[in-house]
Amino acid sequence: MRELVVLGTASQVPTRTRNHNGYLLRWDGEGVLFDPGEGTQRQMIHAGVPAARITRICLTHVHGDHCYGLPGVLSRMVLDGVTRPVHLHYPAAGEDVVRALVSVSTPGLDLRLHPHGGPGEVAEGLHVRPLKHRIETYGYLLAEPDGRTLLPERLSAAGIAGPDVGRLQREGTLAGVRLADVSIPRPGQRFAFVMDTAPCEGAEELAEGADLLVAESTFSDEDAGLAREYRHLTAGQAGALAATAGARELVLTHFSARYGDDVPVLARQALARSGGAGVTAAADLQRIRLPQRRQGGRNNQVPGHAHG
Ligand SMILES: [Zn+2]
Repeated sequence: MRELVVLGTASQVPTRTRNHNGYLLRWDGEGVLFDPGEGTQRQMIHAGVPAARITRICLTHVHGDHCYGLPGVLSRMVLDGVTRPVHLHYPAAGEDVVRALVSVSTPGLDLRLHPHGGPGEVAEGLHVRPLKHRIETYGYLLAEPDGRTLLPERLSAAGIAGPDVGRLQREGTLAGVRLADVSIPRPGQRFAFVMDTAPCEGAEELAEGADLLVAESTFSDEDAGLAREYRHLTAGQAGALAATAGARELVLTHFSARYGDDVPVLARQALARSGGAGVTAAADLQRIRLPQRRQGGRNNQVPGHAHG
């Protein structure tokens, strides 16, 4: 099961319908919680996902709307009797704030702190890149390794069956048959998370070839001046990011309260520049499945895949 559970979609100020940030990515056995703002614990109850599901927490930066929910969530996990290790990733520059938030949480959780101070792989398949905000900020990419899909008719034509299939996969060739002859590339799935930032190279690197790209879209195109001043993306810039990166599905979030119910306007502005990527303006408690794997190469869209 791979899906994004949207817990909150508001930037600085929550509204009646939008909680502060919070996103739980369910990725096979992992539950990765991104940027838990205030109220995340209760949003998880509304969404029907137990806090015990969380295996890893990733903070992009330590502005309150991205981390003030941390003590509540950690304390809840202790209450629920979570005993396995929980990993917390965050920018090293936010160490004092993170330590303060952890210090007021109920003790007893096996919490492993993983600060990062530069680009790289911070856990298996989990990569960070610096973004461009008012304080040190990093975006995240969860990338599954590329693999190959076996073609049964070619396998049987080559006379390979049973345990030989596994041998061919491990060794690459078997009795003159190459793995490449009986399979096609299967690009690993990619989930990218780009929060508070001005347009920048780090955002482009994270978004490259993403199947699902979550991007902040704090301002409308008309408010590009504010976006520049506060180092955020406009909806159109989020759309352009998806287009440049060849992302397949773009999820907009982190909306300024000034737009109230006008968020569909932001989705239209993003779609106008998304280069064919599907665009969703996220709502609180929405669940978004990862699109099916691409077939063939990373630049090939899945045939018949609908956008809109
Ligand atoms: Zn923010």
